[in-house]
Amino acid sequence: MKKGVIFSAMRPSGRLHLGNYEGALRTWVKLQHEYDMYCGVVDLHALTTECGSDTEVAHNSLELARDYIAAGIDPQQAHLLIQSHVPQHSQLHLLLSMTTPLSWLERVPTYKEKLDSISEPPCYGLLGYPVLMAADIMLYRSTAVPVGQDQLPHLELTREIIRRFHALYGVELFPEPQAILVEAAALLPGLDGRKMSKSYGNTIAITEEPEAITQKIKSMFTDPLRAFRKDPGHPDTCPVFAYHGLYSPQEKEQLAADCRGALLGCVDCKRRLAEAVVKELEPIRERRRELDARPGLIEEILATGEAHARQVAGDTLAQVHAAMRLP
Ligand code: SF4
Repeated sequence: MKKGVIFSAMRPSGRLHLGNYEGALRTWVKLQHEYDMYCGVVDLHALTTECGSDTEVAHNSLELARDYIAAGIDPQQAHLLIQSHVPQHSQLHLLLSMTTPLSWLERVPTYKEKLDSISEPPCYGLLGYPVLMAADIMLYRSTAVPVGQDQLPHLELTREIIRRFHALYGVELFPEPQAILVEAAALLPGLDGRKMSKSYGNTIAITEEPEAITQKIKSMFTDPLRAFRKDPGHPDTCPVFAYHGLYSPQEKEQLAADCRGALLGCVDCKRRLAEAVVKELEPIRERRRELDARPGLIEEILATGEAHARQVAGDTLAQVHAAMRLP
């Protein structure tokens, strides 16, 4: 018996990296056994900031779906789908855009941040992005959503959209989804110590080859206060040590003590980390190789997941139409 329903998704913006894996995918892999799980590739969300004839959304969507499988999402346990292949996402988004006050969207902090970071004038879809996210979650009557601390305001907005819908139409169609918080310890810094992000070029892909992983870890930033090998280090502020916490948990305490006592050099510390990361990612690389060797398989997996998703989403949408007195 499953505990409830989860819809979880990522934008297709290139290959999955360790930050995506530790911040979300690793949790999804566990949750797929406990919940009825929908894993979405939200290509329509990607269009809110990158549209035009040169967009690689279609290619990136298939790559992301393959990386989901490589990371351990099991199509026998979870339903995989590309958002635009299930038209009910767009349809519910449109209906919810009639019931969501504009002021709720204008105050969303990530909208304000996006406005500062984009060079083009913002599109209408960017403002409505949280409504599309609410539609994604509501279509499957999700009871829970795995989120980081920074995404809690988005989830709260979804719950407000649900409450308003219920109040306007006098129905109780949707559960209010609860947050499943991803541990802060799982949020890895990038190679340069900033947030791991493709736009900063500071990532390690989950399917990266061992040589590339080793080279990247060699180039990682370390404790800025440790200029020489003989200086005591400060592991708590060193990005390399944050990785050891996840990939060398048994050795963590000893590594920290050796770093503080200047008994361990950064070159050795990184070499040990590279070995641990290469080993950890080997099953993921292997699954990705197997998938790449079977052309057409990801399309089949998606077709199955999307057929199921369309059925469930179609049922929800029919009830929304009835509540809204649409013919
Ligand atoms: Fe960082 Fe390791 Fe160097 Fe200590 S020894 S400063 S933890 S890289």
